[in-house]
Amino acid sequence: MPRSTDLITPTDRGLWCAAGNFHIDPWRPVERAVVTHAHADHACPGCEHYLASPATCDLLRVRIGPDIDATPLPFGKAITQGDTRVSLHPAGHILGSAQVRVEDTRPGAHNDGTWCVSGDYKVDPPQQQDPTAERFEPVRCDAFISETTFALPIYRWPDRARVAREINAWWRANAEAGRTSVLLAYSLGKAQRVLRLLDPAIGPIGVHASIPKLSAVYERHGVVLPEAVTANAESAPDLKNGGVIVAPPSASSGPWVRRFAGPEGLRIAMVSGWMRVRGRRRWQSLDHGFVLSDHADWQGLLDSIEATGAARVGLTHGSASIMARYLAEHASLDAFVVPTRYTGEGDGENKADGDEDEAPTGAAGEAGGDAVNDQAASEAGADA
Ligand SMILES: [Zn+2]
Repeated sequence: MPRSTDLITPTDRGLWCAAGNFHIDPWRPVERAVVTHAHADHACPGCEHYLASPATCDLLRVRIGPDIDATPLPFGKAITQGDTRVSLHPAGHILGSAQVRVEDTRPGAHNDGTWCVSGDYKVDPPQQQDPTAERFEPVRCDAFISETTFALPIYRWPDRARVAREINAWWRANAEAGRTSVLLAYSLGKAQRVLRLLDPAIGPIGVHASIPKLSAVYERHGVVLPEAVTANAESAPDLKNGGVIVAPPSASSGPWVRRFAGPEGLRIAMVSGWMRVRGRRRWQSLDHGFVLSDHADWQGLLDSIEATGAARVGLTHGSASIMARYLAEHASLDAFVVPTRYTGEGDGENKADGDEDEAPTGAAGEAGGDAVNDQAASEAGADA
């Protein structure tokens, strides 16, 4: 349970550390924001000051504005903020994503003196590490606040190499049949993960106009991505010739995508952890779905929580109450739900350039709809 003496507490603006006088990932403008990563549901515009990893600061300048007051804090380096020591540690979610470790330095600080807020995180097996995000590092702490976007046992991610083979085989088959391939992936993080998997030998690669300025930050920070053209009227003739286009999900519903159709049309596939639930693809009328997430799966969450050694665990985003119950019953942890503004389905615009934190629109009703026979969807429905 939350306690009045907690170092970090939920407020109507997000997580707040009174001893350090800062918020973590506030959703309304505040004076001092420590930001875990640059997705829209974690990085609020209008704050007076931002503290974040160097890559996140660069991404914030692209997404929020070039003139924000942002101080870069390299991973593992601790600074004093009021009566606390603050350090950032890789979260493996997107480039620059960080967990925030906060240590209470007041004399006589109580037992729960070290906290860690995960933000969004992804744990890859050593041989499967995605090169577009820094490797997740477990942080020892007394209290851990973990995200729970995919906190259901049905969420188990296939290995990265297999997903790459599936995507490239699908693209190749489409190209040979005279069809353009469209892969739907959020512009920041997922798009770069997908680009890195593509085999440029198959055909030309195009990206939606929202992606190049974000990919440029990745490249400045040493991430190698394949050559890609901006998908527009100029590049359309080339892309129609067996090309693949990576675009945010919002781009699939309008006329924009039709201009790239090859002689035999086009095929659209979503790339998301949500595609683990087969019924979701049917519900969204997608041609195909590939299971690739930038969040930890069920086992990844359990392993990460255990690795912190924390006796108290706050859960937030997604299936928080399910995970809280599981941890209390199976691991005898003091587990509790941390309220967030971002629950349920979110709005389409936020998803378009934000994150896959929010389930695709309509997902909550899915289990009772056309996916009623889908075992996985039925389990997912328990959270709806
Ligand atoms: Zn995120």
